[in-house]
Amino acid sequence: LGICAQRKNIYDTICSLSYGKLVAAASDPIEKKPLYHFLPGTLSYSIASPGCNMRCSFCQNWTISQPDKKRGSYPVNTVNPEVLVRSALSNGCASIAYTYTEPVPGLEYFLDYANLSRKAGLKNIFITNGYFSEESLIAASGLLDAANIDIKSFSDGFYRKLCGASLPPVLRSVEELFARGVWIEITTLLIPGENDSDTELNGIASFISGLDRSIPWHISRYRPAYKFTESPPTPPEDLERAKDIGAAHGLEYVYIGNIMTDNNTYCPGCGALVLEREYMSLKSSSLEEKKCPDCGYEIRGVWE
Ligand code: SF4
Repeated sequence: LGICAQRKNIYDTICSLSYGKLVAAASDPIEKKPLYHFLPGTLSYSIASPGCNMRCSFCQNWTISQPDKKRGSYPVNTVNPEVLVRSALSNGCASIAYTYTEPVPGLEYFLDYANLSRKAGLKNIFITNGYFSEESLIAASGLLDAANIDIKSFSDGFYRKLCGASLPPVLRSVEELFARGVWIEITTLLIPGENDSDTELNGIASFISGLDRSIPWHISRYRPAYKFTESPPTPPEDLERAKDIGAAHGLEYVYIGNIMTDNNTYCPGCGALVLEREYMSLKSSSLEEKKCPDCGYEIRGVWE
């Protein structure tokens, strides 16, 4: 059994144990993913398969992402691709988001439902740790419309120590998905004393701005969870410090999450409010044909 708990070697064939098996299905505001520049104000049918290809000791969703022999098998419902797409449509969703745990180990399921959802006019989204093999990235990207990708740290040591993984494949996925035209946003969960140094934050911000300054960067507040409870919740001033570092690198859209704060979108050209949010949903938009109504600056995103 692989560490993801979704794959098993059965007579020399690596088989998927998780095809169509879901531990969660809910209609969420797309802002909750978070995706702030992709179909704002719409609902996304959000699903999860149990298991993950990382082992983050701070995982906020560990009860469904981390296999635990003592806890026994996960309660799951098996949902075939046709039923999934029908459910998304009947719940008034504009997209299906594979989220909460990690979508990559569920690739065969994704490829089957994503073909159907595209034909039905739905968009396909991954909320992912970015830990793709090259083959899985190529297979998924053709059917993906948007992804929120974690860059958890800019240190390979952090990934190895706290996630059981490594950094280079994550950065390669971000670059590749961006190059293939998938709308991407980045998330970093800021853990005091672990990934919050100026050096690390400058590294992440510089990497994002090197790709495109209009890629949104979400800096999330950490709360102690699972096996990693040494650090306190992220102090608000550290979230603001990270936001300032993003701005110093020219990033146009840096947002703070997991805490009540101003998470509106302001025009990088003139500072006008263009998208107003109330916690995790859209309150109003003044965009006019993808542009700021005051100065005409193009606000990058997928708006319709
Ligand atoms: S990648 Fe995400 S879901 Fe997987 S263990 Fe890490 S935090 Fe949890």
